[in-house]
Amino acid sequence: MTRPRTLLALNWKMNKTPTEAKAWARDLAGEFTRGAAELAVMAPAISLPGLKETLPGGVDVGGQDVSPHESGAYTGEISAGMLRDVNATYVVVGHSERREYHGETDVLVAAKARQAQAHNLTPIVCVGEGLDVRERGEHVTHTLAQLRGSLEGVGENVVVAYEPVWAIGTGKTATAEDAEELAAAIREALRELYGEVAESLRVLYGGSVKPDNIASICAQPNVNGALVGGASLKVADVIGMNDAL
Ligand code: PGA
Repeated sequence: MTRPRTLLALNWKMNKTPTEAKAWARDLAGEFTRGAAELAVMAPAISLPGLKETLPGGVDVGGQDVSPHESGAYTGEISAGMLRDVNATYVVVGHSERREYHGETDVLVAAKARQAQAHNLTPIVCVGEGLDVRERGEHVTHTLAQLRGSLEGVGENVVVAYEPVWAIGTGKTATAEDAEELAAAIREALRELYGEVAESLRVLYGGSVKPDNIASICAQPNVNGALVGGASLKVADVIGMNDAL
């Protein structure tokens, strides 16, 4: 089975107003040349309509979270159908910041991923260990347990992002070998869950990815792209990463 196309997924987190998002997209459009990677911008939901109409054709957009419910009395939540209506392709679920600050469990993350798929969105399911777990040497078992829980009942139209929490926003990148160790273990778990199609699924690495380290990380046999936070905010960094792939 052929290796999937590399995905450069930008996670803006809670940054940029809708006006700033459109200006960013206009700047990107001025400099962007389509490279080997697929580019997708995971922006605050309120910015998605403006972004989608301003970004160069072929650049996807996605949400950063989604409700596990279809619709109804869930004040403040955004549904999968709403994201789909503004032409989102992806949605991040189970980011470590959601798990930590909003108490999201694997059971909830799996429900969100299933709901995304029910509306033809591809969930980007995030997993990864904290520093204490890594120091105990339990990062593989911990991350795989989280993965299995977060994929309960979830179909194969899925992207997995391995993001060691100690590498997020800290400037501490896992080495390319660390990324590959977990990506290979995740691939094996995906094979057990989905069979042969696992070869064509994308496993991303996230955590302090930048223009100068993205190429070596994404060259690993089981790493099929990156989920990028800090370095996703400046057009120059995104162009640098896109060109490096
Ligand atoms: P970072 O964030 O690139 O700023 O480390 C990655 C993420 O949280 O997805």
